[in-house]
Parts: sequence; C-alpha cells; structure tokens
Amino acid sequence: MRILVISDIHGNLTALETVLAHAGEYDVAWCLGDLVGYGPDPNECVERVQALKNVVCILGNHDAAVNSQMDTSTFNPEARISIHWTQAHLTPANIEFLAHLPNRSFQDEVTLVHGSPRSPTYEYLLDTYLATINFSYFESPYCFVGHTHLPVQYLLKNGRGYADLLVPRENEIVEIQSRSILNPGSVGQPRDRDARAAYALFDPDKKTWEYRRVAYDIAAVQARMRAANLPDRHIQRIAAGW
Ligand code: ZN
Repeated sequence: MRILVISDIHGNLTALETVLAHAGEYDVAWCLGDLVGYGPDPNECVERVQALKNVVCILGNHDAAVNSQMDTSTFNPEARISIHWTQAHLTPANIEFLAHLPNRSFQDEVTLVHGSPRSPTYEYLLDTYLATINFSYFESPYCFVGHTHLPVQYLLKNGRGYADLLVPRENEIVEIQSRSILNPGSVGQPRDRDARAAYALFDPDKKTWEYRRVAYDIAAVQARMRAANLPDRHIQRIAAGW
C-alpha cells in the first residue's frame, strides 16, 4: 500500500501537478491542509485535491480563513491581502468544500492534523519542546502534521521523557517508529531554504516513510502571481524557499 502525503499546497498548481507526476501510482492520498492562500491557483488546487484517489483532506488555517471560520487579523498584512484575494476568486462550491473539511482525522494508525494534535489547525510544531508536549494529545502510534512547511520527524523513544528531532534525508526509505510525529514539508511554499516541492510516501504495512523533493517551474507560478497582483514578498519567497 502506497499513501501519498502532501501538505501546504497554497494555491500553487504547478508544484502540485509536478508532485503528482513525480509520485507516480498511489493507493490513497492524505492532504494535511492549506490548499489555498499565497498562490495564484486556488480553484484549480481545490479541484485537483478533490479529484485525488481515495483522498482524505484536513482543514488548514488558510482554508479556515478564506471561509471565515477564523479571524484574519492574526495574519500579517501581506498574508491578509492574499487571503482576501483568494476569497474573492474562489468559487462558492470550492469555498463550500473548504468549509466542510475536518480539522482532524484518524486513518489506520495515524492521526492527521494540519498544525498539532493539541491545536489541530493553528499550533506550529517548531521545536522538540512543543513536540514533546503534543505527544500527550494523541493516542495513535503516528501523527502526521503540516503547517510549518518544514520536513521533519519527531520521535518519542521508549522510556525517554522528551522528543528527538530528525531531519529526513531525501529519497531515503526509513522505517518509522512508534511513536512519531512526521511532517512531509510543503508542496507549494517550502520554507527550509530549498525551493523544490516537498512531499512523502507512507507505507502503512511496512511502516516506512520516504521523503521526496522535486523541482518545478517556479517562474511560471511567479508570472501568474504578478499578473494577479499578489504581494511581491510571496512572489520572491517561493524562489528562495523561505
Ligand atoms: Zn501553510
């Protein structure tokens, strides 16, 4: 069984299509939220994700913001501009789809959330301190998260009271241990100084995780962002990977 794990697409259809072509055949797709926000193709991304094979999709904070489930004052001014642009361009049917996404799902032995098990839509798991606390907020062997746009694994070893952080190596198939929190990185706006799209493949039978990167046509996305008058900062950052 091959499960495609993607997150933080952020309206970047070119990155999403490149990831799907690169990933090849899969049985199930898990999307950990933030389908929209920042990028120029919100409708296309929502529709593409809906059409994925056996897809389970979780609500991200940007998805919540565009369907008015959260107050946009918590976003910085440029992110707010892009949220309002996205709201104005999404079709009513796509806003409706985002409005009905769950903020958490349990699949086999995995808890799926966007941010963290403690605060599924909003909390950023950025360090081992926060990861350690969050292990008490889910019971399954594994939890998959997105939101930080940083590919990482947090491991809670037996008898140890704190989590270790591990940055996965590209294309390495690793057996994941119970209990782990894993982040596949971001498809549409990576922030680890590597501009290539990130995703992962999970095999629930063998309990393996393969983290992958793939280059995509960033200039084409930037041209569409410019044509849409989206904030310059977001146009620059997809090329720099921050
Ligand atoms: Zn995001």
